[in-house]
Amino acid sequence: MKRREFCKTLGIAAALGTSPFIIDSCKTSSPKKTPNILFIMSDDHAAPAISAYKGFLSSVLRTPNIDRLAKEGMLFKNCFVTNSICTPSRACILTGKYSHKNGCRTLDDVFDNSQLTFPKLLQKAGYHTAVIGKWHLKTEPTGFDYYNVLPGQGDYFDPYLKEKGDPWQDGGEGGKQYKGYVTDVITDIALNYLKNRPRNKPFCLLLHHKAPHDMWEYDKKHAHLYENVDIPEPDNLFDDYQNRGEAIKRTTQKIGLEETLLLHETQGNQFDDVKSQFSKLPPREQKRQVYQTFIKAYLRCIASIDENVGRVLDYLDHSDLTENTIVVYTSDQGVFLGEHGLFDKRFMYEESIRTPLLVRYPKEIRSGSVNNDIVLNIDFAETFLDYAGVPIPDEMQGRSLRPLLQGRTPHNWRTSMYYRYWMHRPHFDVAAHYGIRTQHYKLIFYYGLPLDATGAVPEPTPPEWELFDLEKDPHEMNNVYNDPAYQDIVKQLKNELLKLKEKYDDKDEKYPDLMALRQKYW
Ligand code: CA
Repeated sequence: MKRREFCKTLGIAAALGTSPFIIDSCKTSSPKKTPNILFIMSDDHAAPAISAYKGFLSSVLRTPNIDRLAKEGMLFKNCFVTNSICTPSRACILTGKYSHKNGCRTLDDVFDNSQLTFPKLLQKAGYHTAVIGKWHLKTEPTGFDYYNVLPGQGDYFDPYLKEKGDPWQDGGEGGKQYKGYVTDVITDIALNYLKNRPRNKPFCLLLHHKAPHDMWEYDKKHAHLYENVDIPEPDNLFDDYQNRGEAIKRTTQKIGLEETLLLHETQGNQFDDVKSQFSKLPPREQKRQVYQTFIKAYLRCIASIDENVGRVLDYLDHSDLTENTIVVYTSDQGVFLGEHGLFDKRFMYEESIRTPLLVRYPKEIRSGSVNNDIVLNIDFAETFLDYAGVPIPDEMQGRSLRPLLQGRTPHNWRTSMYYRYWMHRPHFDVAAHYGIRTQHYKLIFYYGLPLDATGAVPEPTPPEWELFDLEKDPHEMNNVYNDPAYQDIVKQLKNELLKLKEKYDDKDEKYPDLMALRQKYW
């Protein structure tokens, strides 16, 4: 049956009241235009550092360009990463799979670039694919018609980038040097790509910024931003870690003179002056001043990100691409901005696992909408494939966000998520752990073993549990694991955790030392 006749028949059916929704699809009978995909990701951009999230910084912070995506699209409040660290998160996003499945469990793992990724599938389906900016996966990008990426972490000023066609050298070497500030440079290259892309194909551009990763080196033009402003402190900047386990007490990622300002050293030769000036202050005031120094540097990096997001959105507007382009803004994970007195990530605590997610696609997403469902970074791949009309491979472990973006969350949407941090201790002494988060609770098991994770420290840490009642205690200040009132909840969550481990095929049975711990501590 030809399409016209088909619709006519359906029209009759609809008139009889049998099929009202099918006639709707016939109204949009013009050939479907495959959407372009612009996937912007920054590195370590916490949700409270976007004004649309209305977090504790919102009285001083303005990110009008990123906010546009919230105003014109959907803001996700509960988007989480499955392993809160750079390289592993990027591998999860590309493959739509957990770390133990894609082989990048720690920062020291090398990405196997022969495996299936969403850019490869989009490329096969006729997309022109590109990645520009931060890559951080060691092996050469595959599945991209064009790439121009920073080697390793890359530099903030006058960075080198490695372009497709140049011989690929892993690690920090190679590439061509570009003059300028890295966020501007990456955006310039991205705009150049968009202007010169082939017009006979939809595009999928991964525009990945280095900022605001430490060492928080901001563009000199923003040096005076927030100069005479007192940035608000998080409520728990002076957390004393009472009623918590040993893991948070042990970690060295604490806002302090040595730890934070040593990282800040690269801002110039101001460190010695600042250190001697701050060291004369009483401890509480000292922490306060260190926090101000750190957060101002961080927010100045964000100012550049926001300006450059604006440049790209303007380009879409002026090139008549806004309507047919899905724009995503996210980060590879969250980061502590002084909450719990911390400044890095890795932990399963909220600030670390929550990542901002804003999506605009005027054809399908109601402007100004907000979603509270639990969504994961392993969902991105399937979402892009869904929009491109590409069948989703069975091996992917996420779920397309398209129905959520259309404002209709399926009744069987996930009610819990599984998290795992593998990289036992080498950075900031964070113990290996895994756990489950629901809308109401979070249960964390710090198993504290290196197992076979690359780069892990051999010495174990004491096993322990933490349970947080997120409704009563959203800032996770009170571990109720041993509270008798929560024993039924503990049991239920442990069962659910094991189900998730089974579902994602991350079983402990292959590790006898971990199983021995479980015998004793579950
Ligand atoms: Ca990161």
